[in-house]
Amino acid sequence: MDSNGSRANNSSVSVTILGSGDAFASGGREQSAYIIDAPGLRILLEAGPDVLRLLKAHRIPTDSIDLLLVSHLHGDHIAGLPFLLLEYMWENPRKRPLPIIGPRKLEERTWQLVHVLYPNFDLSKPGKKANSLQIAKKLRWTVLEPEKSVRKNGLKISAIRSPHTKPDISLSLRIEIGGRMIVFSGDSGWNDELVEFARGADLFLCECTYYESSHLSFHINYPDLAAHRGKFDVGRMVLTHLGREVLNHQSDVDIELAFDGMKIEL
Ligand SMILES: [Zn+2]
Ligand SMILES: [Zn+2]
Repeated sequence: MDSNGSRANNSSVSVTILGSGDAFASGGREQSAYIIDAPGLRILLEAGPDVLRLLKAHRIPTDSIDLLLVSHLHGDHIAGLPFLLLEYMWENPRKRPLPIIGPRKLEERTWQLVHVLYPNFDLSKPGKKANSLQIAKKLRWTVLEPEKSVRKNGLKISAIRSPHTKPDISLSLRIEIGGRMIVFSGDSGWNDELVEFARGADLFLCECTYYESSHLSFHINYPDLAAHRGKFDVGRMVLTHLGREVLNHQSDVDIELAFDGMKIEL
């Protein structure tokens, strides 16, 4: 994207990291949100709490989002969805369908969030309010199951289950578009399957939330990742979802770290 949020050219694939922080917004970083631009397709990957503000701050028109992809149901990845829907209801009415792809229960959880935050809006059901009817009709929900893939107009998204949540399902995602492959760990504990899943990726965006806390099985800590780095056959590996411990150890980290606003051309 250039400074006006338009696609830079028609043949490239790029990833813009809007939010590289963890759930605690460590170091003042934004929570999860990424833009993937490919020829003819702009994907919003994750919708952290501040996603609407981030889109506007980066001058990315909200109606330019062609598809929303979500890895799992934690608030730092989906809590911005109600505001995006408000935007599409009133401020910038959505004229075309919005495909939303994510793990099971994403639709249910989204409407629960909206209901808690704005109890007088019943957006999920067509009904009395014309705007509600409009936005509910525009959303096209697709459940992505682990070990499955979804294909849409030259885009292929595959998933494996990441060790992160139970009973809710969290996904690691492989996105193939425009002749490029992007693998995103999502939130995940160390998972041997990631090595094979990421093989051949042009970009592997891997979460790295901790450094010292090696006892946690639902997030990756840097020493574990560094020990396995040689196994990953990927073009470029960038660590994201960075927590306080990693940020305090930046000089000890030998793998590229994401930052808010980072743009990666593939
Ligand atoms: Zn998270
Ligand atoms: Zn999470």
